Amino acid sequence: MTPTTAADDLILGLTRVVDLPGLTAAAGAPLGAGDIEALLREAERFCTEVLAPGWQEADRQGAHYANGTVTVPKHYHDLMRAWIESGWQGLAAPEAHGGQGLPHTVWTALVELASAADMAFFLGPILTAGAIDCIDRFASDDQKARWLPKLVSGEWPGTMNLTEPQAGSDLAAIRSRAEPLGDGRYALHGQKIYITWGEHETTENILHLVLARLPDAPPGSRGISLFAAPKLLPDGRRNALRCGGIEKKMGIHASPTCVMLFEGAEAELVGEPHRGLNAMFAMMNAARLAVGVQGVGQAARALQLAEAYAAQRVQSGQPIAQHPDVARMLAEMRAVTLAGRLLALEAAAALDRHHLLGDETAETRLALLIPIVKAWCSDRGVDVASLGIQVHGGMGFVEDSGAAQVLRDARIAPIYEGTNGIQAIDLLVRKLAKDGGAAMRALLAEIRAEPRLAAAADQLAAATDTMLALQARAPEAAQSLAVAYLQAAGWTLGGWMLVRAAQAAPDREGLAAFYLARLLPRAAAHCLEIAAGSAGYPIAARPSAA
Ligand SMILES: Cc1cc2nc3c(=O)[nH]c(=O)nc-3n(C[C@H](O)[C@H](O)[C@H](O)COP(=O)(O)OP(=O)(O)OC[C@H]3O[C@@H](n4cnc5c(N)ncnc54)[C@H](O)[C@@H]3O)c2cc1C
Repeated sequence: MTPTTAADDLILGLTRVVDLPGLTAAAGAPLGAGDIEALLREAERFCTEVLAPGWQEADRQGAHYANGTVTVPKHYHDLMRAWIESGWQGLAAPEAHGGQGLPHTVWTALVELASAADMAFFLGPILTAGAIDCIDRFASDDQKARWLPKLVSGEWPGTMNLTEPQAGSDLAAIRSRAEPLGDGRYALHGQKIYITWGEHETTENILHLVLARLPDAPPGSRGISLFAAPKLLPDGRRNALRCGGIEKKMGIHASPTCVMLFEGAEAELVGEPHRGLNAMFAMMNAARLAVGVQGVGQAARALQLAEAYAAQRVQSGQPIAQHPDVARMLAEMRAVTLAGRLLALEAAAALDRHHLLGDETAETRLALLIPIVKAWCSDRGVDVASLGIQVHGGMGFVEDSGAAQVLRDARIAPIYEGTNGIQAIDLLVRKLAKDGGAAMRALLAEIRAEPRLAAAADQLAAATDTMLALQARAPEAAQSLAVAYLQAAGWTLGGWMLVRAAQAAPDREGLAAFYLARLLPRAAAHCLEIAAGSAGYPIAARPSAA
């Protein structure tokens, strides 16, 4: 039997697990199973034939900085042209500005396939999609008319300039400032760091979205505004912004991570003054979902490499895939990858239900799922990539196999777009505590309806009560257990998605059964950790000198 590909699983997930045909029919713009399959096959072809072939060469060449110029791997110029010509950037973008207006769920599937093909390249289009979303929601009609067609076509990539040396997780500490020029425009001053694809020469222009403070801004997070500054001004002059250097990194070598210097750059305010962080929060769901999906993409790439290697490497007279311990590793990689993939689609479908149908319950569900998808899927991307190396044995540690690159690339996803520790605190403080656990209990009621998950749902419900009580009584102790809680939720939800996949397609039953027997106990282990931790076990143990 031929093993399923990522695209096969995505088609199953979209059409029969999260029921995109039903959702789009209810929204009055039906997308049938056949349409979805055709779109996904085309995306698969583009990713496999165009993006994927150069991913190792891109890693070897990397991005470089010299005398103010950033260079990326040579073939990235062709890839960028192919990306623009393909029209994929506009897949889920508004039709009024040249996009196809398709559901976010379909874009999510593309993000997985393209991230698996070349994560470093595809970070650019992911950030551009974020910029499109932000401008579509917060910019004036005039700004939309000037910027959106270029962004939607992919001709101008967009960047996100949030982080500063003293403002990482704590964006309230942002110091960049915007001085009014008196004609409705502003001059931006400040330094941003770690800006993905902040500078390069693969496109004619770049539109930078930048968080900065107005002169009369109140301190803290309520005094931050959002600005847009193009690299090239409409009259063709170079704007007063430049790249001051790029980082040498563990992975995603071909994605330039730039220090950006704003030295009086001409910019326009986007949205209301002092409401910049709100604009960022509004698009955060999609951005965090995309990072979780990058984790799934890396897991998928690791699995593909490991399956191919294990089928042909012979030891003790048989292909290593047939040795029980290697079969165990491959089964874990397959089960976790499929669970993460489907969980991400579940969140994307909630986003679509909210946007397309105005369903407020879906919005609450989305808010609950986002930190779990971002953190659990990106952590699993790292685990699966590491297992992929193990399957290869010594070849996994050698760069030629590609397995090591997958682990190096996957490792960033738990860090950016809000570290996974911050996601866990968000889940505890903003999602659970805000409604007293109501949204989580509603989700658990659905999970409990599946008999094979009833015990896991009960355990997680008890852990939820424990976390809520602890958060009210001893918030620091609760926050020290937040990651354990998020992991318990992630492993439980992963099981739920696989059981649903097996109901939709009986040939996925083997993976579901493996997951329930071998991996779901990890949820129980985290629940035990929460019970012990809440009973007064020290938050941090450090030996003291005698
Ligand atoms: C390759 C790369 C690309 C990036 N791309 C972009 C980009 O395009 N645009 C952009 O604006 N930024 C970008 N970033 C920045 C990224 O979002 C930040 O690195 C991230 O938000 C963490 O901030 P920090 O590095 O300052 O770590 P810190 O905030 O210093 O965190 C360090 C540790 O402390 C923990 N911590 C911090 N505060 C708390 C708290 N209140 N409670 C509990 N734990 C806490 C964190 O979880 C983490 O474990 C990128 C970073 C990298 C490495």
